[in-house]
Amino acid sequence: MPENTGKIVKVSGPVVVAENLIGAKMYDVVQVSQDKLIGEIIELNQDRVTIQVYEETSGIGPGEPVYNTGLPLCVELGPGLIRSIYDGIQRPLDIIFQNEGDFITRGVEAHSLNRTTKWDFKPLKKIGEQVSSGDRLGIIQETPIVSHYIMVPPRLEGTVENINEGSFTVTDIVAQIKDKNGETHEISMIQKWPVRIMRPYKEKLPPKEPLITGQRVIDTFFTIAKGGTACIPGPFGSGKTVVQHQLSKWCNAEIIIFIGCGERGNEMTNVLLEFPELIDPNSGKPLMERTVLIANTSNMPVAAREASVYTGITIAEYYRDMGYNVALMADSTSRWAEAMREISGRLEEMPGEEGYPAYLGTRIASFYERAGRIRYLSTKEDEATISIIGAVSPPGGDLSEPVTQNTLRTVQVYWSLQDKLAYERHFPAIDWLKSYSLYLDQLTDYMREEIDKDFINTRTTAMTILQEESELEETVRLVGIDALSKTERLILDTARSIREDFLHQNAFDEVDTYTSMKKQYLMLENIIFFHKTALTAIQEEYIDNEQLNKLPVKNQIARAKHIAEDKLGEFNKIKEHIREQIDSLISRKAGKDE
Ligand code: ADP
Repeated sequence: MPENTGKIVKVSGPVVVAENLIGAKMYDVVQVSQDKLIGEIIELNQDRVTIQVYEETSGIGPGEPVYNTGLPLCVELGPGLIRSIYDGIQRPLDIIFQNEGDFITRGVEAHSLNRTTKWDFKPLKKIGEQVSSGDRLGIIQETPIVSHYIMVPPRLEGTVENINEGSFTVTDIVAQIKDKNGETHEISMIQKWPVRIMRPYKEKLPPKEPLITGQRVIDTFFTIAKGGTACIPGPFGSGKTVVQHQLSKWCNAEIIIFIGCGERGNEMTNVLLEFPELIDPNSGKPLMERTVLIANTSNMPVAAREASVYTGITIAEYYRDMGYNVALMADSTSRWAEAMREISGRLEEMPGEEGYPAYLGTRIASFYERAGRIRYLSTKEDEATISIIGAVSPPGGDLSEPVTQNTLRTVQVYWSLQDKLAYERHFPAIDWLKSYSLYLDQLTDYMREEIDKDFINTRTTAMTILQEESELEETVRLVGIDALSKTERLILDTARSIREDFLHQNAFDEVDTYTSMKKQYLMLENIIFFHKTALTAIQEEYIDNEQLNKLPVKNQIARAKHIAEDKLGEFNKIKEHIREQIDSLISRKAGKDE
């Protein structure tokens, strides 16, 4: 038996224990049994190793061989990633489906990146030039909307000895680099990178710009920064998927990584069917032209889900290193955590809360830590970002469960989906009182300078009105609406307007589906302008709430969401109407009083 071959002593679901695997290291990838099922060493104990297997282990038993590859779990990085649909360990699902049918047989081997496709490589460096890690050696048009840079791999520095223009497969040698020891390194278009290790960058920077999503409740009230982290927990049917799709479609990141961690089986199939149909509104091209999809269907073993978030984030880092803004959506991280729980149970580890391993919090934190705004290796000035948006599906909508709690401890933005709002058809069903964003302070300058100097004040006023509404509702419940003053009634009317005319947003309406930041500001500004003008009218001029509510301009405010982006001048007209109509109420009243 060769030195790196061991023998199985125990099989327990996705966990296999083997002996005599000499020289094995933590996180080495192994092949289990004659079928060569892929697994990873997750525990070392003298000459015994524990392996988590990414494929179905039934029928495999003690005595069968285990081969150690001696390599950690890696992903292949290079042209061809975009448009791909991978499983958790980066096997191309679309290719496997074509070759094997709906059910993936065990031990199938398929290259993550196609070995025969030829890509036109244009050098960006010349022979004799000095290069170091992350420098762009050449460029490829990966899809009509994504330029792919072939970079000097991490930890390599030297002189370009040779570089070729032309049509190459990913394994062909496109350049040679001689390091300072005189050794020549051949550079192909594939890089391999261990998924559990963060790719290096030069410097981490604090977030400074919002990730604009076109969704009003998110951009105006609970903004996520480019390079930020957000969590969206919500019960079934509350709109998690619609929100994630909206973000994938509209957010201003150039690359989208979507990880489907095996929700109930058919949901994942929906993603596989729906995603390739989505159109990128900016380019008019299929969304897949800037997307990598990682899908764990429910018939895949849990361990592959555990790996999938790492596979996804490593691919995200690779595009970040090219200088892109990347947005990664994980739907849902609860399934990932459940996979951890199952494996930990099989390992007979000491369970923590609700049976999850004690390291659940650390694992979640170290995943979200891979987000950020960074200065990448090859640059002095330029920046790139990874934003992570994780959906959590707490069983029974119970937010006190460990996955939600540990996620909330790590992320900076919380969008609280409420089924109550979804029943009322208030979409997106993001609760304005419970949600928060900790980026608001860091984004203040951007909002003031790029959107409007009054943006922050307007948002604060609107938020205050919504909070006052919830307190007043309590009073109304106890003593009835008649107990409220005119000012208090105005607050309720304005709050309704903020909710219905601003926060409600129909993802399926052609215009309403996306609102620019400028338009969001103008919409909200008019609502607040009406409020302030009306407040003076009822306090100083004794106008009634009903009279204000009947003004025709109220209707215009309600319909403002349908104003096209190239007709924003309309908002000024509405503002004039507000002033005119309230003024004329006051002068009519004055006429009567005389
Ligand atoms: P979840 O993924 O949380 O189970 P979905 O995202 O599938 O829920 O949403 C359930 C339904 O709610 C959708 O099919 C859709 O009809 C409705 N919905 C959710 N968000 C919106 C929205 N922004 N605009 C209009 N309808 C929505």
